Amino acid sequence: MYTPDGHTRTCGLIGSPVAHTQSPMIQNHMARATGQNLVYLPFPVACGDLEAAVRGALALDFLGLNVTVPYKSDVIAYLAQIDPLAERIGAVNTLVRCEGGYKGYNTDMPGLYRAMRQDGVEAAGREVVILGAGGVARAVAVMLLDRGAAGVYILNRTADKAQAVAQEVNRMAGRPFAKAYALTDYERIPGENWLVIQATSVGMHPHVEDAVIEDEAFYRRVEIGYDLIFNPGTTRFMKLTEAAGGRTYNGARMLVYQGIIAFELWTGTSIGQDMADELCGRMAQALGQQDGGYGR
Ligand code: NAP
Repeated sequence: MYTPDGHTRTCGLIGSPVAHTQSPMIQNHMARATGQNLVYLPFPVACGDLEAAVRGALALDFLGLNVTVPYKSDVIAYLAQIDPLAERIGAVNTLVRCEGGYKGYNTDMPGLYRAMRQDGVEAAGREVVILGAGGVARAVAVMLLDRGAAGVYILNRTADKAQAVAQEVNRMAGRPFAKAYALTDYERIPGENWLVIQATSVGMHPHVEDAVIEDEAFYRRVEIGYDLIFNPGTTRFMKLTEAAGGRTYNGARMLVYQGIIAFELWTGTSIGQDMADELCGRMAQALGQQDGGYGR
């Protein structure tokens, strides 16, 4: 049995709330399986205490931190260094100890990319529909730009926000890569056999009966529905996609891979496919998901 000792390194998650996080299970399992003398704990950080939390972690010689809602952008102000990808995305979810403080990374998007590759979902050369224009949707658009997608259609309830994200991504691209629409305007999107990435919070537990679009006509044009939500394991968006003949995935693999990439950054140890699959299974079990199905 593992017992922490005088050499144990500490990592943790800061955010608010953190009570329902799966990260301690994921990180501590990887640490035990790879023989790292490391423990990972959740730390709720109250509004206004972010700087003190980062300074405190540094003073206590924490090896690293994960950062979750609502601090992924605000934490940037308290970093010694920032990885260029995280800077482009404007969100940091992983802090790694460096000279004079912490270096900030974004492992969410590399995590999503790895998850999509593992699920056999290729975005390169494809036009991709993104539902949502929040922090994650914006990051997904940047990731798709970097990974060679042909373009993105950003659909959001608040069309102005979709427009702002599209403009920003087009500025980065130096060409018209992103187009913005209101959710109800999906009929204006050309083609069919869409890859749709569901990046809104609609349908998350406990509001499991909600989907951001209900129209069957929309779902008939979806080949792959990739929902970034991982609880429930099968969202209403996924059910509607499947009912219309599409293939679906949830955000469990993304969550696992963002954790794996953070662990790899902290420890320099690489995590194999078997461990990633095992972690997805454990997470489904922890969330009480019968299907365990992160890909259907
Ligand atoms: P956010 O910045 O708060 O954005 C929320 C988005 O959802 C906005 O586009 C918002 O539209 C839309 N929305 C909310 N309620 C809506 C409603 N009733 N009808 C229509 N649209 C609605 O959130 P975020 O940080 O981007 O995160 C989005 C989701 O990503 C999270 O909820 C989570 O499920 C998922 N996520 C997954 C992982 C993973 O590892 N799998 C990691 C991070 C996040 P408006 O702009 O119109 O308000």
